[in-house]
Amino acid sequence: MNGSGWEIFRVGPALGFITRRTGNASSDPIATVRKLLEKIAPGTEIARVHQVHGREVHHAEGPTSFPYPRADALVADRSGLAVTVLTADCVPVLLADDGSRLVGAVHAGRRGVMDDVIGAALGFVERRFGIPPADLHVHLGPAIGPCCYEVSAGLAEDFTRRWGGNFVIMGEEGQSRLDLPGLVIEQLKRRGVLRERIILRNDCTSCNLDRYYSYRAEGDAAGRHVSGVLLKP
Ligand SMILES: [Zn+2]
Repeated sequence: MNGSGWEIFRVGPALGFITRRTGNASSDPIATVRKLLEKIAPGTEIARVHQVHGREVHHAEGPTSFPYPRADALVADRSGLAVTVLTADCVPVLLADDGSRLVGAVHAGRRGVMDDVIGAALGFVERRFGIPPADLHVHLGPAIGPCCYEVSAGLAEDFTRRWGGNFVIMGEEGQSRLDLPGLVIEQLKRRGVLRERIILRNDCTSCNLDRYYSYRAEGDAAGRHVSGVLLKP
């Protein structure tokens, strides 16, 4: 379903959403989400984190306020609380379990993916809540694709050493491109998430500037997308 300004979808039993590009990149994207949520889930509270490209996971027990907890993944186990991440090229990963107990959001950028922030988040969910990866539904939001994500030879080597060569694509002129969403899927599967429960859209941010912001394509002026997921009350 495409509303104006955002997209709404299911993540298993939970409600997921992603904001679209707007005419005003500098407007506060969280304020936009608050307004949009008021229409379909009035009273929803919002939790966010201060993203630092690390692998900390925050358990949100209520709405967060400034200064936000430093983390790149957050989970909530109560209804009416949306967990959100901000991205422009990095992979927003939204998750929810079969039993409507928990939702989570992960900011998976180059450094986080290299350091397995996905594994950190899934490990946290299993340890703290007893929910195994096989019980999870996962939705990967729009991110920069292997079509556009050129990286240095050194970085390509680092990724190959740590995660194997399947996620580095060599171009005809010797340049290397990284398949970040592909590697996120591999990391999810290695932890036990079922492939048929992972939704990946082939929706490159850099290729689709009519709909998305791209840090790579637009630099510092790029806006940010809010991706989130919540259990409806
Ligand atoms: Zn692309």
